[in-house]
Amino acid sequence: MEKYKVHTSSPEETMKFANRLGELLIAGSVITLEGDLGAGKTHFTKGLAKGLGVKRTVNSPTFTIIKEYQGRLPLYHMDVYRVCEADEDLGFDEYFYGDGITVVEWASLINEQLPRERLSVEIYHAGEDKREIVLHPIGEWYNKLCKELLN
Ligand code: ADP
Ligand code: MG
Repeated sequence: MEKYKVHTSSPEETMKFANRLGELLIAGSVITLEGDLGAGKTHFTKGLAKGLGVKRTVNSPTFTIIKEYQGRLPLYHMDVYRVCEADEDLGFDEYFYGDGITVVEWASLINEQLPRERLSVEIYHAGEDKREIVLHPIGEWYNKLCKELLN
């Protein structure tokens, strides 16, 4: 499937883009986030949460693995950086196939456990406050989502 590239020049711009994505998501959507430390995965999630109508401040869940927020739909924010055993089953499926939206930071660490259909998002440093966001939809619904998001 196609990949789509978006460039942002500030944290606010990244959040604004993710906000629009948050508005378009439906129950059961899964978004995976990849990128180095400081790439902007958590800022992306903050924007997405706002678009979902979450009022609470979203912070990195590094020490808890999963944090849950209530918006128009529940948001499950995971950071699996500290999941040491890649094949350790922490019951992720309940979230992925549940009634909310799941965002997974460092998703490749649990690659084997991810649902096949998802929106993969990679964020790359492109100098100072610039970032390149690469969207890779896997599955027909996510492909349509990207087209709508970028039109
Ligand atoms: P991660 O979760 O990937 O480790 P964070 O979102 O916690 O990253 O941190 C991203 C850092 O980069 C923040 O300090 C943010 O202010 C900064 N930043 C600078 N430019 C951007 C941009 N265009 N998009 C997102 N974050 C940016
Ligand atoms: Mg983070």
